[in-house]
Amino acid sequence: MPEQTLQAQEKMETVDTLILGGYLVTVDEADREYPDGALAIRDGRLVAVGPTAEIAHRYEASNVINASGKCIFPGLVNTHTHLFQTFMKGLGEGIHVHEWLKVVTTPGILQMEPDDFYLSAMVGCMEAIRSGTTTLVEYMYPNPRHEMGDAVLEALVDSGVRALLGRSVADIGDNDGYPVTAYYADLLEPLDEALQDCARLVRACRDRGEGRVTFCLAPPNMRCVEPETFAVFQEFARAHNCIITMHTCETARDDEIIGARHGLRAIEWLEGLGFLASNFLAVHCVHLIEDGIRRFARNDVRVSYNPVSNMYLGNGVAPVARLLEEGVIVSLGVDGASSNNSQNMLEALKMGVLLQRAATQNPGVMSSRDALRMATIDGARAIGMAHEIGSLEVGKRADVLIADFYQPISAPYYNPVSTLAFSSSPQVVDTVLVGGRVVLQDGQVTALNERELILRAQQAGRRLALRSYGPQVLELCPAIAAP
Ligand SMILES: [Zn+2]
Repeated sequence: MPEQTLQAQEKMETVDTLILGGYLVTVDEADREYPDGALAIRDGRLVAVGPTAEIAHRYEASNVINASGKCIFPGLVNTHTHLFQTFMKGLGEGIHVHEWLKVVTTPGILQMEPDDFYLSAMVGCMEAIRSGTTTLVEYMYPNPRHEMGDAVLEALVDSGVRALLGRSVADIGDNDGYPVTAYYADLLEPLDEALQDCARLVRACRDRGEGRVTFCLAPPNMRCVEPETFAVFQEFARAHNCIITMHTCETARDDEIIGARHGLRAIEWLEGLGFLASNFLAVHCVHLIEDGIRRFARNDVRVSYNPVSNMYLGNGVAPVARLLEEGVIVSLGVDGASSNNSQNMLEALKMGVLLQRAATQNPGVMSSRDALRMATIDGARAIGMAHEIGSLEVGKRADVLIADFYQPISAPYYNPVSTLAFSSSPQVVDTVLVGGRVVLQDGQVTALNERELILRAQQAGRRLALRSYGPQVLELCPAIAAP
């Protein structure tokens, strides 16, 4: 062997995985891109990011992914969903959110068994991964049947996705709280018991979450929380180092009810309670007024923008352009599959931009790059994980999306960011890694029998629909009775 080659080989460092030869979009501070880029991954983290020529020269690995002709992005971060709603996909169309809570989600959740939660969450996670999502914020409704939280945790772990397991806690059970339904009593439990279960889930995530699943506190909305309880939530969040996420101003109802109870606008009231902080992820914010936007900005509150859900339920348009002008960190979410009706983050990228352009009548108000940042680094910031995920930088977790744009929907492609945001569907998602582990390869889910899980979910979903809504559901959804 020539001496020069021998020296080169001696210098090679061994890593677990190399991704070579793709158009690399890092979404780092400088928005660096490498037309022929590569990643080196060891112990689930990125140890090198840069040109293929440099990285292939320095590192060797037993697992080499050839990304030639493909584009490499950070995995997408979905900051809001309800995975149990996968079983309610397509039910209750055309009704207002408060009625929808009453007739669709609450009757369904009360009839769900742990296996339903598991299968529903698994199908939701598989769809998420197939649309390039590597991290999601799951948001469980209040539920005194604590085994449901364990079923969702099990699904999050089995699916391979990175997640925050959000668990709801509510302590006002009247018609202005949550949900506006006679079923409410069945979902209510004493505050201390709910918080004990939250603390149990913090430990369960730590013990069983494989370092990928952590806990977050998720009160449903401000109308179902006693004023003094917000301080209890913040105390819990500090003690357990977790964020708090809550539906906020999804409709005008928060302002109406808080106005009637306390004579203040919703966000002014929350600020007065000392609740607004950088560990608060406010979801929807469709009916946020100028005063609320400024209060969010000065308290560094984070926002989850859910354009498809907001359109599906006819809630309106979040003032995202104004939030961005004020420097508020805005992330992207899909919301549950009963108000979307999918978990497709690529669709959220496109709709998120187009909805702002339509609402402001300004095609320059938001770009594909803005959407990508929302779905990656700002998603990571919104959930307090920017030091770990959200961009492809040395030291961060290897959460990676590899897209194959040689598809009818995307070809020919010229600008990878525009193509991902505007000319994509899950069919372009070729390979996904979470913490260096390949969970989707060549368009196939690895380590799970996807077909078998979907068949089980289809059967269990039909049984649940009949249990929850009775035979009349067949009139609207005739396929429930199909073989
Ligand atoms: Zn929601």
